[in-house]
Amino acid sequence: MADKTVFTPDVKFVRELKEAGADTMKKCYQCATCSVICPLSPDDKPFPRKEMVMAQWGLKDELVKSADIWLCHNCNDCSKYCPRGAKPGDVLSILRKSVIQENAFPKFMGTIAGEPKNIWQALLIPVVLFLLVLGVTGHLNIPEGEIVFSKFFPVHYIDQIFVPLTGLAVVLFGFSITRFWKNLSEGSDLKPKAEFLPSFIETLKEIMTHSKFKKCDENKDRSTAHMLVFYGFIGLAITTAWAVFNLYVLNWESPYPANDPDVVALFGSETIPMILKVVFKLFANVSALALLVGGSLVIANRMKERGVDTVTSSFDWVFAGMVLFVGASGMLAQMFRVADFPPMIAYATYFLHLVAAFFIIIYMPYSKLAHFVYRTVAITYTKMQKRDVEV
Ligand code: SF4
Ligand code: SF4
Repeated sequence: MADKTVFTPDVKFVRELKEAGADTMKKCYQCATCSVICPLSPDDKPFPRKEMVMAQWGLKDELVKSADIWLCHNCNDCSKYCPRGAKPGDVLSILRKSVIQENAFPKFMGTIAGEPKNIWQALLIPVVLFLLVLGVTGHLNIPEGEIVFSKFFPVHYIDQIFVPLTGLAVVLFGFSITRFWKNLSEGSDLKPKAEFLPSFIETLKEIMTHSKFKKCDENKDRSTAHMLVFYGFIGLAITTAWAVFNLYVLNWESPYPANDPDVVALFGSETIPMILKVVFKLFANVSALALLVGGSLVIANRMKERGVDTVTSSFDWVFAGMVLFVGASGMLAQMFRVADFPPMIAYATYFLHLVAAFFIIIYMPYSKLAHFVYRTVAITYTKMQKRDVEV
């Protein structure tokens, strides 16, 4: 007699998915139109039909081990043609959020930082931490005279908060991703046939060019918004890394002293450091602008009528809002300083900018930003399996 496979529905998981916005999944009657329509679904074991039935049954263990939910780029072509209005594109998006929370390390951080209803707790942590640091160091006041942000919150204090916490976040994220990789290898009978490195490089090329986004029909123009956010983040990460390197490794003071003999010795010209300063400021501002424009386009795209009624989860809204806020508050703080606004407004804007930056950087392993990493890992794994759809 053939072996029986017994599935036990996880009712709690089903309830959580429905509360997160996937309540339409129950409408699915498994016609498979979605899998036929999807431009990114492989011929062998295509998605998202099978994920729909798994979600209906609450098969959390199977879904947590699935690489396929990460191959979906949320274009919603499938949702447009679903005859039952089951919104498979949205359901997959909510499943991805659940997987991030499931892999979160430590778990409670996934609940605080990854759950939109807990956003106030998540924001309160940096607010209290910053006020504590300012209070203990005697900086809990509005400095007199010209607006200089480092007089209010010295750069060294910011670095001493952000650098170790970012390091900790990276290590914790490493644990989550290691667990995810193990799950992927347990979740498929298809063993890797290709090496990691070439598959990873191919994945990076695909992500840098957003080539898969362009295969979508309904939401093709999302790739522009996504690319602006993507490159905006990379630009800001490079600028921040440069500022830290500049301050702690080269030991230059900021702004770059054009007449510093060490600097002149290093570059052979008094003008180069000043040019570097201008270039990096420009680069930082262009990156912030890309983030701002990209974030606005993401929100506009989600609100645009496309003949398909999709749901943007509060998880996505929180992230899009925070991206906009960090870009806008950074630029406004600078403008307030240059335009000599009342110091209280300029310093308060700067403080809020730091809170938003903390939210985006330190909570990265639990937020929508973690998608970049989970998706990269899952696409790499499927390329190693030679299962991924070529672009
Ligand atoms: S989600 Fe819609 S299109 Fe896909 S199998 Fe279910 S009913 Fe059919
Ligand atoms: S949202 Fe787009 S990529 Fe995702 S399953 Fe549907 S059609 Fe495929």
